[in-house]
Amino acid sequence: STPSPTVATPETGLTPAEVGRLRADFPLLTQTPGLVYLDSGATSQKPRCVFEAEQHYYERANAAVHRGAHSLAVEATDQYEAARTAVARFIGADDDELVWTSNATEALNLIAYACSNASAGRGGEAAERFRLGPGDEIVVTEQEHHANLIPWQELAFRTGATLTYIPVTTDGALQVDRLEDVVTERTRILAFTHVSNVLGTITDVAAFVARARAVGALTVLDGCQSVPHLPVDVKALDVDFMAFSGHKMLGPTGIGALYGRRELLNAMPPFLTGGSMITTVTMERAEFLPAPNRFEAGTQRIAQTIGLAAAVGYLDEVGMDRVAAWEEHLGARMAAGLAGIDGVRLIGPAGVERIGTATFAVEGVHPHDVGQFLDSRGVAVRVGHHCAQPLHRTLGVTATTRASTYLYNTEDDVDALLSAVADVRGFFG
Ligand code: PLP
Repeated sequence: STPSPTVATPETGLTPAEVGRLRADFPLLTQTPGLVYLDSGATSQKPRCVFEAEQHYYERANAAVHRGAHSLAVEATDQYEAARTAVARFIGADDDELVWTSNATEALNLIAYACSNASAGRGGEAAERFRLGPGDEIVVTEQEHHANLIPWQELAFRTGATLTYIPVTTDGALQVDRLEDVVTERTRILAFTHVSNVLGTITDVAAFVARARAVGALTVLDGCQSVPHLPVDVKALDVDFMAFSGHKMLGPTGIGALYGRRELLNAMPPFLTGGSMITTVTMERAEFLPAPNRFEAGTQRIAQTIGLAAAVGYLDEVGMDRVAAWEEHLGARMAAGLAGIDGVRLIGPAGVERIGTATFAVEGVHPHDVGQFLDSRGVAVRVGHHCAQPLHRTLGVTATTRASTYLYNTEDDVDALLSAVADVRGFFG
């Protein structure tokens, strides 16, 4: 088995002792004896500082933002905007390029509906880049989570555009060499995931961006599984948009964000309309604020943004390079261990870069049974199609079992998984 590191190395990032210490910051982990939480790909656990930040806001600064003249409203607005600055910096963006949403799903729908509005003639000349119609193409990949597939299917239905996709190989790897022929002069949007939520594999973003630029298409990156686990800089990646969710990166539920290049956000028609996103309103029409406010109609998720800012502060303090290295170390230990268990098949391409996620099938046992058996041993994993039915179809399975790590997982967690998986076939045999 993989030797336990006692010092942090570039390969492991964190040491087991450091992980042991930081686990004390996660009340759910310390208060649930025997829990081996390997489902962070679905949602992460949260450190105490996130709850404290929300509680502090409610106890000391709660007021409606961007509205009141009183000092409490000013304090709430300052905290809300400071949270935006913190989260924008975390991904290398400027403040006004980060729009708050409920989650990544809403962020992706926001762009798709903004395109619909533009296609219906809204937004004037500035919105030209977002106008789609028959003959135009939207390209996704066969790896996508449904959240980065269905909004584009629906946009295609609404506008008459065509949806095409970069296929995967039978083991799930993106066929990057198909970019040239699938992404064409007619492609207007190229939407793709940074990290597969099923396989944990990392996309060659540069190849996708280069092809999109060559044909003048907009790029939309699904950063749901990358922003929590890898250092991500949107300017270095050079994408036009990126969506991500707070609850997968130590933050609260109910908060996510859409990054967009400033000039694109300001040219895009709004999705939701109402209070707080306008300059002037008559009985006939409204003028909208610049981004990000034009996309933040109604009373916002103030406490959640502050909670998410505390989460990124925590991640920054640990260091995303070290988080990524530790998870890679755990992922390698999981993959090596699973590969050595009789009747267990690892899903996904071999020998490629991935985050600390392992997806597998146990011969003759349905993933739901695998999940229940592992649960009986205290090991929490995700089973099913992981909101990626098309990918599973191509992989030739209806469901799989996914174990996903985060910075608070230990080598003992991995070993508990491996020992439980080794007993699955015997139990059902
Ligand atoms: N995209 C990917 C790759 C995901 O893993 C997820 C969540 O599982 C989503 C999108 C959707 O995220 P949310 O449900 O937080 O909107």
